[in-house]
Amino acid sequence: MAPIALFGSDDTSSKIDFTTFSNVINGKLTSTEKTRRGINPATLEELYEVPVSTPADVDAAVDAAQTAFKSWKNTSHAERSKAVQAFAEEILEHKTELAKLLTKEQGKPLPMALNEIEGAYVWLTSFSKVELQEEEISEDETKKTILRYTPLGVVVGIVPWNFPISLATVKIGPAVMTGNTVIIKPSPFTPYCNLKLVELAQKFFPPGVVQVLSGDDSLGPWLTAHPGPAKISFTGSSATGKKVMESAAKTLKRVTLELGGKDPAIVCDDVDIAQVAPKVAELAFLNSGQICLAIKRIYVHEKIYDEFLSAAVEHTKKLRLGNGTEDGVFLGPVQNSMQYERVKGFFSDVEAQKMKVAVGGTNDRKDGYYITPTIIDNPEETSKIATEEPFGPIVPFMKWTDEDDVIARANNTKMGLGASVWASDLDRAARIARQLEAGSVWVNTHLEIDPNAPFGGHKESGVGYELSAGGFKAYCNVQSLFLKK
Ligand code: NAD
Repeated sequence: MAPIALFGSDDTSSKIDFTTFSNVINGKLTSTEKTRRGINPATLEELYEVPVSTPADVDAAVDAAQTAFKSWKNTSHAERSKAVQAFAEEILEHKTELAKLLTKEQGKPLPMALNEIEGAYVWLTSFSKVELQEEEISEDETKKTILRYTPLGVVVGIVPWNFPISLATVKIGPAVMTGNTVIIKPSPFTPYCNLKLVELAQKFFPPGVVQVLSGDDSLGPWLTAHPGPAKISFTGSSATGKKVMESAAKTLKRVTLELGGKDPAIVCDDVDIAQVAPKVAELAFLNSGQICLAIKRIYVHEKIYDEFLSAAVEHTKKLRLGNGTEDGVFLGPVQNSMQYERVKGFFSDVEAQKMKVAVGGTNDRKDGYYITPTIIDNPEETSKIATEEPFGPIVPFMKWTDEDDVIARANNTKMGLGASVWASDLDRAARIARQLEAGSVWVNTHLEIDPNAPFGGHKESGVGYELSAGGFKAYCNVQSLFLKK
């Protein structure tokens, strides 16, 4: 296919085809000799062809990004803001096609796919208003000292398969608003929405400012090792995050790592069980448990344990599992075969260790990667399900009696992404919440994030953070400017 130029084109929307997918390098749609296909996890059908990028594609994208950086870094806040806002509007205009594509490649129910796309619009709009101003540190008769935030250069945004649209826009927006250029690398499991998203961006950004490369498992390591990029913004597992940091260290690239979680929810004995148990169950099973911030351990006070568990079980029985295109489905399939086998490993362990299954437990559908939402009743604190991240719809409920003890158990993990406390006594809840070791801690909710609040992990859940003015600063160098009069 001959490359097609898109920047500034008025009729791009008429060219958007949601069945063909290309890399975007230097403002042009480009193909590769070799291609591959993703799989619809709800039907196991092969999807459309996507490029498999080579090292030459990486060089071309990095070159274009470095060239574009020379002028993009000098654009005004108003220009960047206008481009990001227009990009957000374009996403909204194509929300129906994007949502269908997202359900097809990722598996999530259509209303939740739509929600993800509308969320991307809201976030990009919010990012478009952020401006890092110069700060005056001091001034006297002889000198003035100023703190400036200057862009880093080329940013590589590496995206996982659970929220491809949200997690790409959360990198593109802050990167370009601070004057950087960005290359998005989708997960090979979910390349489609990311390729389309960046294609849509081309109308509003000069060539090379926002690019995307699709590829196989070699592509991520090529990008992190390449001497051109200045920063890697990575979202994915802690194991891969360590490899990214190691590779980036060789050229001292900046890194932001948003990694795995094993979020505890501590339920106190004064909660309204009928209200809280269904909420907690949904926050464990949303997106089929494939959320870094899903509730992954539920500690319930022993006084209410039986009643709370039984309310959660009753609600879980009502959560419909199925193809995300069907009405009323709460859980789609898990996203890919590797993840399916991984999650089933937790079920095998539950069986081998003869743990008590409160609901779910059997997985006999063969037409897609379907896993029944499952609650394990009070497993050992050291068991696989209580200590590892399944990233699927299986969650342990465990009993607690002593406040200090449950806090110690909640913190007894290498992870520290999110945590929540559920109680009617808000002072008690806040007292417990303040002792939890996690980047986001909630009382009487979980998973809520805000573009103005930092989002990141403690311990092995991450390095640095995204969102808020601080998240923007992570895309910048700081410069102290001493102006002698
Ligand atoms: P993953 O680590 O397998 O892959 C993430 C991305 O990294 C993909 O694009 C993949 O192709 C790429 N990659 C793989 N190996 C690489 C390497 N050596 N160098 C560079 N890139 C490489 O993660 P996943 O399975 O896609 O996602 C699930 C994990 O992500 C879970 O652990 C989840 O908790 C975590 N996650 C974290 C957040 C967060 O914000 N903290 C958000 C979503 C998911």
